Amino acid sequence: MEWIAPILAGIFGLLTGSFLNVCSLRWPIDESVFRPRSRCQRCKSPIFWLDMIPVFSWLFLRGRCRNCSGSISAQYPLVEAGMALMWAAVFALHWPSPEAFRGAIFMAIIFGISISDARFYVIPDQFSVGGTLVGILLAVLPGGIDVVASVIGAVLGFSVLWFVGISGTWLIKKISPHRLERVGVDQAMGGGDIKMSMMIGAFVGVEGIALTVFIASALAIVIALAQSIPAALARNEDGDMEMGGLIPFGVFMAGGGAISYVWGDAMIAWYAKSLLGVAG
Ligand SMILES: [Zn+2]
Repeated sequence: MEWIAPILAGIFGLLTGSFLNVCSLRWPIDESVFRPRSRCQRCKSPIFWLDMIPVFSWLFLRGRCRNCSGSISAQYPLVEAGMALMWAAVFALHWPSPEAFRGAIFMAIIFGISISDARFYVIPDQFSVGGTLVGILLAVLPGGIDVVASVIGAVLGFSVLWFVGISGTWLIKKISPHRLERVGVDQAMGGGDIKMSMMIGAFVGVEGIALTVFIASALAIVIALAQSIPAALARNEDGDMEMGGLIPFGVFMAGGGAISYVWGDAMIAWYAKSLLGVAG
């Protein structure tokens, strides 16, 4: 019977994924998630309720609008299926501990941020600031970190990325004076990334947020280098070295946060034991 909870969580994950599609595409452009109703992007006709069943409707209609046959993005079923798998996995890992609910909510928030950031380079406050409050509230549940650890994690998460942003901005202005304005920003780290880091800290605590920032930075550096090698070879018209474009750092923070949530304790224990010689 232990498979019932993960399957139910997967079904609720499909519905949450469906709502997450709406939130992550509307919040960045300040639209309500309730009005207007979901419409076809092409013919603007409201979508028939039967065509809003997660994943299955999209497959049944073969990714086309019932009214105009315009194509409907595969993002919708992919996000729904992705959320279902993540919720089933978190419940398989933690149920019957209430930690299963905390983990599922955390996955939904970071998944939503990934979509918004990848698509619009925006991390909505509803996910980051709202998520911080939810993270602190859920810390009262038994099983995960306690409320004090959650608050300290949030403060540390905010501070670390704020500091990385300040020093990064200083460094980039030294190396390549016009780079930030060319990319269209005035800081190396966006305010949304800093607030997101606060939210992750509220869910994973002090060690978890340290690990998250480490993983996210490592991933981002690899991507930035890959982007900048061709750009650096061709110096731009101002004569300074190009270093690639804008990176949606929230996507890497989301990846780091998920890894840290699932494997963080094991990774930190391994690190302490094998590199610092501390018996675990
Ligand atoms: Zn249509």
